[in-house]
Amino acid sequence: METTENKNELLRGGQFLVKETKAEDVFTPEDFNEEQKMMRDSVKEFVDREVWPKKEEFENKNYALTEEVMGKAGELGFLGVAIPEEYEGLGMGFVSTMLVCDYISGASGSIATAFGAHTGIGTLPILLYGNEEQRKKYIPKLATGEWFGAYCLTEPGAGSDANSGKTKAELTEDGKSYKINGQKMWISNAGFASVFIVFARIQDDKNITGFIVEYDKENPNGITFGEEEKKLGIHASSTRQVFFNDTVVSAENMLSERGNGFKIAMNALNVGRIKLAAASLEAQRRVTDVAVKYANDRVQFKTPIAKFGAIKSKLAEMATSAYVGEAACYRAAKNIDDRINLRLEGGESHADAELKTFEEYAIECSILKVACSEDIQNCSDEGIQVLGGMGFSADTPMESAWRDARIARIYEGTNEINRMLAVGMLIKKAMKGHVDLLGPAQAVGEELTGIPSMDKPDFNELFAEEKDMIKKLKKVFLMVAGSAVQKFGQDLEEHQQLLLAASDILIEAYMAESGILRAEKNVKRFGEDAQKEQIAMAKLYLYHAVDTVNQKAKEGIASFAEGDEQRMMLMGLKRFTKYDRMPNVVALRNTIAEKLTSENKYCF
Ligand SMILES: Cc1cc2nc3c(=O)[nH]c(=O)nc-3n(C[C@H](O)[C@H](O)[C@H](O)COP(=O)(O)OP(=O)(O)OC[C@H]3O[C@@H](n4cnc5c(N)ncnc54)[C@H](O)[C@@H]3O)c2cc1C
Repeated sequence: METTENKNELLRGGQFLVKETKAEDVFTPEDFNEEQKMMRDSVKEFVDREVWPKKEEFENKNYALTEEVMGKAGELGFLGVAIPEEYEGLGMGFVSTMLVCDYISGASGSIATAFGAHTGIGTLPILLYGNEEQRKKYIPKLATGEWFGAYCLTEPGAGSDANSGKTKAELTEDGKSYKINGQKMWISNAGFASVFIVFARIQDDKNITGFIVEYDKENPNGITFGEEEKKLGIHASSTRQVFFNDTVVSAENMLSERGNGFKIAMNALNVGRIKLAAASLEAQRRVTDVAVKYANDRVQFKTPIAKFGAIKSKLAEMATSAYVGEAACYRAAKNIDDRINLRLEGGESHADAELKTFEEYAIECSILKVACSEDIQNCSDEGIQVLGGMGFSADTPMESAWRDARIARIYEGTNEINRMLAVGMLIKKAMKGHVDLLGPAQAVGEELTGIPSMDKPDFNELFAEEKDMIKKLKKVFLMVAGSAVQKFGQDLEEHQQLLLAASDILIEAYMAESGILRAEKNVKRFGEDAQKEQIAMAKLYLYHAVDTVNQKAKEGIASFAEGDEQRMMLMGLKRFTKYDRMPNVVALRNTIAEKLTSENKYCF
């Protein structure tokens, strides 16, 4: 397997599967520089002051409060962290963008959604696809929070099939404007936005076109809104239908070119997806924090419940998902940052550099969106369980955290769509020769039919077994996906359950590897003793990943292989998911839980 050696050999999107990454080459949250730490602390302090104590008001659907907090976030520069300085942003790079998104989102899903919709899908289409006049006109106002943005793609009949919308844009007789007619649905920030990115079809074009549409209460220009949707969670996030009735938009407000809207919509979503993953991290930390404190305080059977194995197990698992989520999100964020910078150094414009980079890392963006949105759901669910009846009460933060978490699996592309996209994009990259999967997949095929190697890693070395296991999990993906491609070719996309299974293998390999690399890097610089619990978390996550991979691969193999082929692949799977030294998972969990309860907080 190749390794990453210098900056010019940056890991490409999807390449993690076939290229070994060294621990010293990954960025981890422990690598934040002083500027980033200051930013993190000021966002955290802002949320502790403006959001966390007002949780009840958000739950009681105080939409005005969301707008007010967003305005204050704008004044402090948090909305402009990713915007270049020439447009009144802070121009801080993608790791910092993820950092702000992470810490601003943890106390209320309503703020997370308002922030994500505004800074991501509401602003980025103009920043990345707008012309200079459009950027100059809109971006400074969006960066400072003078105006808020919304993104109108979904329609009653066009959800996951986003390019099928019926909203029309018709050129006026003088050729100077377009008239937009149609209905958009589920539009976040609709109640207080001044700028709407609207996707509409011109004539019978195959693809939709993007427009920048301004909204002014005094002059609504045919724009009306439905009532606020009654939702399971994110109660103070404004979500409305938006109706366009002969809304006149200057032709100058077309984004990019006619028919380019679907591309714009999808690329804006790539960024939105990885940011959504980051937006689940602080929520996991806060939920774990509350659970740890409660478990230490709550006494049953004359014992703090934190001392019960059943509770220790939950606390350990909650912290582990947060730790690994952080590892994977910031690892990918730095790859993206580095790639953008490399492109900028090569003379590309800011917009081109970002666009091409996000397209390149779309696989990781989908992986992270799926993994982290499901982790926050599990984490808040177990958080409720740790608090027992109190967890079910709206007087504790668990209940709303659980409800708020649910939407993350639906928007920015459902998790089903993202799972299938991740594998589909990877296969496409392989076909185009951008990532060499064919060679490694053939090597795995030969390994299956050859005599098993007796070479074993030196188990005295930290993570020797785990790193060997990661390599094997990647082989499982290559074996399953490689054979499936051979069998079905272009028709593979019709075998959705197989794709979903393959996607879970891919996701687990990326996440587990990120956890191990983070812990390994930190052991090298801070010592093994100082990282005892982090080592335990990395190993615990991997243990579950191996189980998931085993189960999903079995399912996949049985769905398309029979007889000798099936037997051979199942034997390979057994070999690729076999621990030489089975970890003591109970001991790992106890180590993690004891640290959490002794510190009385999420402390990693
Ligand atoms: C609170 C909230 C805020 C939102 N904010 C915005 C916003 O600001 N702007 C915006 O444009 N949209 C927004 N959305 C819309 C959101 O992006 C869509 O709800 C989402 O893309 C799914 O579309 P849908 O609801 O029509 O579900 P559908 O597409 O009808 O999907 C229903 C189910 O079928 C599955 N499915 C669909 N197609 C396939 C397929 N090809 N293969 C396998 N399974 C499939 C889905 O995974 C899902 O499980 C928001 C939604 C909500 C609920």
